[in-house]
Amino acid sequence: MGKCGEGYCQICGEYKKLSFEHVPPRSAYNDTPVAAVQMPIGSVESLSSDLDGPPMTMYLNKKGAGACTLCIDCNNLTGGSYGRYFVSAAKQIHDAVYSKSGSAVPKDNHLQIPLHDIVPARILKQVVAMFASIYSSSGNLFAENHRELSDYLLNVNARGWAGEHAFFMYFQKAGYARLISNVYVTREEPSLELLNKSGSVIDLGRDTISEFAFGFLGYIWAHGESIDIVRSSSHSFLDITDWRKEQEKRDLIISLPALTTFPPQIPLTYAQ
Ligand SMILES: [Zn+2]
Repeated sequence: MGKCGEGYCQICGEYKKLSFEHVPPRSAYNDTPVAAVQMPIGSVESLSSDLDGPPMTMYLNKKGAGACTLCIDCNNLTGGSYGRYFVSAAKQIHDAVYSKSGSAVPKDNHLQIPLHDIVPARILKQVVAMFASIYSSSGNLFAENHRELSDYLLNVNARGWAGEHAFFMYFQKAGYARLISNVYVTREEPSLELLNKSGSVIDLGRDTISEFAFGFLGYIWAHGESIDIVRSSSHSFLDITDWRKEQEKRDLIISLPALTTFPPQIPLTYAQ
């Protein structure tokens, strides 16, 4: 993609020519034009006033959703080594739910979905790579602030990372695309309150949550103390953190909570 120009790659951190990274991967139902949407990722005020926030760096265009976030090398690495495993799983989930003979079984607001011949560790790497890409929407560099996760992505054989990170998935049964990078949340109900008093939801400290949802799948990345908040949520998200250890092809039955996203863009909140 000639239009990307040069910039800092979110994964390796080098200043290089960038390429357009599809988030999610193009063949995971992200190859059709999508309407331009400005996501509120700026101030607390912008969250409450719906879609008036500053436009995010990530954009949705005729190629599908994505942004110029990765260098060509990192784009090739993630696409070839992680993306294709992710696409296989996404297609199986899609067919299980939407095809006439679909194998998804609804149970307690969840969908039980059998997956065949998947490599969980590679799927998790693609999810982490997608969070690296959307990190640019906060105006910051993933490779700088989360070098431990960059190293995990850059080494295909790496089985983990230093530091406390957890990753989760859900099924987005309806609603809006969601893109939230690095916010604080509290345990308080009913509405989660953003703690950052500076007017910015972006914080590079510990204990943040990021979430994005597009198409039919949603993802959550919790850091530090936020991990407990997500793990103890009544939504029972699918915790894919330990997929990092699953390097071999296998069959697996997953259980995804089926949730409807809605504005404003506050993580872990869904329509009833
Ligand atoms: Zn790179």
